[in-house]
Amino acid sequence: MVNCTKGEAGRMALPAHVRELDLDALDDVVGRRDAKAPDKAVLLVPGEGEPVGIALRATTNAVGSAAMCALCRTTHGPGGTALFAAPRKGARGRGGDTVGTYVCADLACAEHVRIEKATATLRPAPGLTVDERRAGLRIRAQAFAAEVVDP
Ligand SMILES: [Zn+2]
Repeated sequence: MVNCTKGEAGRMALPAHVRELDLDALDDVVGRRDAKAPDKAVLLVPGEGEPVGIALRATTNAVGSAAMCALCRTTHGPGGTALFAAPRKGARGRGGDTVGTYVCADLACAEHVRIEKATATLRPAPGLTVDERRAGLRIRAQAFAAEVVDP
């Protein structure tokens, strides 16, 4: 985790399968809200070497209209996206400087890019294969992580 303390990371209520992920083999962007404090969330971004873990905070209620996730480019119906803010790494973040982005409210981008057919409330980026969507998600998540780490 680059932008919170070990204690904060340890206190997050994450499902066992997230805690037990093989980080060396992580291939997908993994996002999860804290089960006990849903305004808190974590995003794991695979890259070269170890994945980058980013603590996020949901800053508002879900977006009330249809909107697109900035990471996976899935368009959701009302309530499907939310604004999350990540404190920047280091002193700036501790001083309240954050990077904000509108993403899937459930942070399940990796699942949404695998949807083959659009539904009434979930529309993956059109004209792309699942592999292309996965690659795009990874690139955009890495760019977001880079902003958090080194603005
Ligand atoms: Zn998404």
